[in-house]
Amino acid sequence: MNDDQLLRYSRHILLNELGIEGQTRIIDSRVLVIGAGGLGSPAALYLASAGVGHITLADGDTVDLTNLQRQILHTHERIGLSKAVSGKIALAEVNPEVVVDTVVERLEGEELERRIAAADVVLDCCDNFATRHAVNRACVKHRTPLVSGSAVRFSGQLTVFDPRRENAPCYHCLFPEGEDVEEMRCSVTGVFAPLTGIIGATQAAEALKLIAGTGQPCIGRLLLLDALTMQWRSVAYSRDPACTVCGETVQP
Ligand SMILES: [Zn+2]
Repeated sequence: MNDDQLLRYSRHILLNELGIEGQTRIIDSRVLVIGAGGLGSPAALYLASAGVGHITLADGDTVDLTNLQRQILHTHERIGLSKAVSGKIALAEVNPEVVVDTVVERLEGEELERRIAAADVVLDCCDNFATRHAVNRACVKHRTPLVSGSAVRFSGQLTVFDPRRENAPCYHCLFPEGEDVEEMRCSVTGVFAPLTGIIGATQAAEALKLIAGTGQPCIGRLLLLDALTMQWRSVAYSRDPACTVCGETVQP
């Protein structure tokens, strides 16, 4: 670390749980953020300010006026621009040391696999079940830790999956595909702006802990936030041995 870095990250370095070693791991890390919207905005801002050396921002959408109520990566001037590109501009303003890659179309197929295989941690900040399941499958396959978050109306959810650990559950164990879960999109149901900030910032916190190897990541626990009463609940869950994604039969 050079002198500027020692100053920039001094408040992290002061923490015994991080120190020079933890901060160096953060600087050397590669994180993939899928979705540069309500959750991806605060998540990416904290990852960049905290010094994650390489961030890939993936989002196929462009900035729209209706996004600006909560998607704090973007600005009024950047309406119409790709969200990934707009996010890259915002992150460079916060921390020019961070290398930011952009994916300006929906991340899927081989490209999704390649990006997930190259990442130390993946943040799922997307808004649809199809992408969530595809991201989970690739994370299980490549044993890449996944920090999952969601926010609709006043309800937030967060949990961490770490396929590197024995008997670790995956997203599919918790929310099996094909079950009739009603997809709730912010465009239809609405969402409380700071809720996306709380959940996205918590995703960044879990990612940084995983990278630095400190604390206990939120594995096997689903955190549920009701922002109307501001109460968190923690629900334990475990691996489904019959899971078609991570179950015994598909383990290498
Ligand atoms: Zn599973």
